[in-house]
Amino acid sequence: MILLTPTLVLLCMFYVVIALLPLIGGIVNLAHGRGFLLNLSIACGFLALSIFGLQFINILRVRLFSRPIGMLEAFKFHRYVGYAGAGFAVAHLFILLAIDRKYWSLFDLATTPTRAKLAIAATAALVVLIASTVWRQQLRIPYRRWHILHWMLATMVFGFGLAHAILVNYYLQDKLEQLVWMSLGALFVLAAIWMRFVNPIIRVRQRWQVTGLTEAPKDVFELNLRAVGAGPGRFSGLQFLPGQFAWVVAGRSPFSISANPFSIASSAERPENLRFIIRANAGYTTALRTLRQGAHVYLDGPHGTFTPDADASGPLILIGAGVGMTPLLSMIETLADRRSSRECVLILAARSEQDMIGADHVERLLERLPLTVHYHFSSRNDGRRLDQATIRGWLPRDLADAECFICGSANFMDICEDAMQQAGMDRRRVRTERFSMV
Ligand SMILES: Cc1cc2nc3c(=O)[nH]c(=O)nc-3n(C[C@H](O)[C@H](O)[C@H](O)COP(=O)(O)OP(=O)(O)OC[C@H]3O[C@@H](n4cnc5c(N)ncnc54)[C@H](O)[C@@H]3O)c2cc1C
Repeated sequence: MILLTPTLVLLCMFYVVIALLPLIGGIVNLAHGRGFLLNLSIACGFLALSIFGLQFINILRVRLFSRPIGMLEAFKFHRYVGYAGAGFAVAHLFILLAIDRKYWSLFDLATTPTRAKLAIAATAALVVLIASTVWRQQLRIPYRRWHILHWMLATMVFGFGLAHAILVNYYLQDKLEQLVWMSLGALFVLAAIWMRFVNPIIRVRQRWQVTGLTEAPKDVFELNLRAVGAGPGRFSGLQFLPGQFAWVVAGRSPFSISANPFSIASSAERPENLRFIIRANAGYTTALRTLRQGAHVYLDGPHGTFTPDADASGPLILIGAGVGMTPLLSMIETLADRRSSRECVLILAARSEQDMIGADHVERLLERLPLTVHYHFSSRNDGRRLDQATIRGWLPRDLADAECFICGSANFMDICEDAMQQAGMDRRRVRTERFSMV
């Protein structure tokens, strides 16, 4: 659940103003002679273009944007706003075609002017962009290839679209109108430069070194990192909140496009020593698993809003399955390091004891925290998975000031959320973290 903070309200207003800015020229210098429908079509085209430009900004991994809304929500927003932009682009085209049959001839590539060719190219790029995103898994496009393709297509959509608007030259003759588009273009280019160049440059001096890599059951491994040169007055590690995550970039350079997100599984009180617990599924995670001691790694973070309220004193209920227990481990380790007296209930689910991830870390914390741990092994319950009734039976009596954090597969989280609702817990205090972002 997203809290409506003043920063978030300001960001939304900023977004709406920028998206609507190109319409100002049309409102000030409205050419009535063009007719309502043509003006409406142009307005839709401008809206689509400014939304596509803003798409470069709303996924920027800067705290100003990611903190109030959360990176996962920002990605969701990016997707839905992208569909809205596509809707305006389609409306722009369809209204035009409905106005007069003469516009149909613009599809004849042999005779059509450059401005129309640019619009066709932008539309084609948009169609490929949406199809490759929606059906990425069905089309079996590896994430990294899709990521590069997505950037290229997005740049083409915006670049061709802007060139089309400039050549058509409606509502772009006026100095103010030109200034608006030049500023917007510059803003979007700057955003792309920030993401691809400035952000990595900042990280060049923030290197991490692998201090250990330990194998765990079920293709899971633990990656321990130490900030290179950490010490007083120098790089002091990653100041994060328990439950947050970072993009891990392995290799010689922080410019690498290969970076996957992982929750930090260690205490926020030790920002110079980080632990990640990772399941090696495929390409990138398998490569991470081969990192040697001393290898260098870069981190982009911290990100995420899956973090407990530092001032809360009510019970903290944490429910996790598989690698979903990693952000929860960070939460309880941090509380232990802070000598917190907050009551914690940790519910962990796995197929069997052998499959349980991070249990050794949890056991070590039992003496340092008022922590109650409940394990559910489906192998010991006739294959039955953790259900609502079992969860409810393990909850503290008084849930009035409790906070609940759930992380695991989508199905698992649905069951846990239902259980918390049935137990009468306020929905706003139940938080979930999905490990699938795109
Ligand atoms: C907030 C968050 C926290 C996570 N924490 C953990 C954790 O603690 N431990 C763990 O094992 N897994 C975690 N994951 C899942 C983990 O990121 C993916 O399972 C992993 O990246 C898959 O990599 P791969 O090499 O196996 O496959 P890939 O083929 O590289 O990727 C498989 C899928 O992972 C996702 N993915 C890959 N790279 C990115 C990226 N740069 N940005 C967004 N999504 C991407 C995509 O959905 C992709 O289809 C987390 C995911 C998120 C979103």
